[in-house]
Amino acid sequence: MRQIIIIGSGPAGYTAAIYAARANLKPLLIASSVEAGGELMNTTDVENFPGFPEGIQGPELMTKMQEQAERFGTEVVYDDVTSLELTGPTKKVTLGDGSTHEALAVIFSTGSAYRKLGLSDEERLSGHGVSWCATCDGFFFKNKTIAVVGGGDSAMEEATFLTRFAEKVHVIHRKDTLRASKIMQDRAFANDKIEFVWNAEVAGITGADAVDGLRLRDTVTGDESTLDIGGLFVAIGNDPRTHLVHGQLDLTPEGTIAVAGRSSKTSQAGVFAAGDVVDPTYRQAVTAAASGTVAALDAEHYLTTLPKDLLAKASESELAAAN
Ligand code: NDP
Repeated sequence: MRQIIIIGSGPAGYTAAIYAARANLKPLLIASSVEAGGELMNTTDVENFPGFPEGIQGPELMTKMQEQAERFGTEVVYDDVTSLELTGPTKKVTLGDGSTHEALAVIFSTGSAYRKLGLSDEERLSGHGVSWCATCDGFFFKNKTIAVVGGGDSAMEEATFLTRFAEKVHVIHRKDTLRASKIMQDRAFANDKIEFVWNAEVAGITGADAVDGLRLRDTVTGDESTLDIGGLFVAIGNDPRTHLVHGQLDLTPEGTIAVAGRSSKTSQAGVFAAGDVVDPTYRQAVTAAASGTVAALDAEHYLTTLPKDLLAKASESELAAAN
């Protein structure tokens, strides 16, 4: 049994691990089998993380966070959590390989998942012209005309990045003003490969084996039109990844995990939540990292309230595992 298990390997998870490890809690961090490092692994330049005046590549930032967490004794496991038992003083975490790990405290920082348009052809053509990640797939769209859906920072970032490869990028947005920050908007407006399609929603994606076009619906007039494209990037936000804790932790009306006040305390004693999974509003790497700190400090404090024999049992197992 461990003192603490951290689920998730984005900025929240690794920052929680850095704090927990420095408090000598020997955290086990479950990093996921395919999405280790979280959303920043799909980002290029991160220009707004303090301490990097020239910017830093997202994957490099995550590697540095992991190194920092491991330096103080965090153990990282690359597997997916398949189920959780969060009630009672001992929490159980089961992984894809069938192993079960126990801990006195759990920090849940699973981030969020790409939102989908909800069209039937979106799934069918996923990987055949429909993508959610420009940095992963942009290279396949060299000299093509493509489209990005969305009006937030993600859509602007994806569209701007994709102009490195594509001949033209249509940004399709359901309103006539963008939600994106001014600096990202200005960058997109200044890029002559980007063309905006305002007040339009994607009503259908066409193509037998690969995307060849879109059916668009004007959100003001209802008129339909078509647009020939060779690829579609969906950048319409994210939803918190909470499926593992449904029925065990309270959620907010926005679908994030409910926490008490400014703390990371969930509705279950000994379970703490941090990062995008609790934050419907700010969702920045730096705010996620900060909430990871809060979770580690809350967990550390919680552990001090537990009976000494339980803590001794956890420490003994950690020592045994280390030898
Ligand atoms: P946002 O929620 O900010 O924006 C989502 C966009 O997609 C909105 O314009 C929204 O439209 C649109 N949208 C949502 N659902 C649909 C739908 N079903 N059909 C069509 N359009 C839809 O998400 P982002 O991923 O852009 O950003 C999330 C957070 O991450 C933000 O805080 C952002 O600042 C941050 N971020 C920061 C970056 C940076 O600083 N480098 C880069 C990327 C993200 P509407 O406006 O009408 O609601």
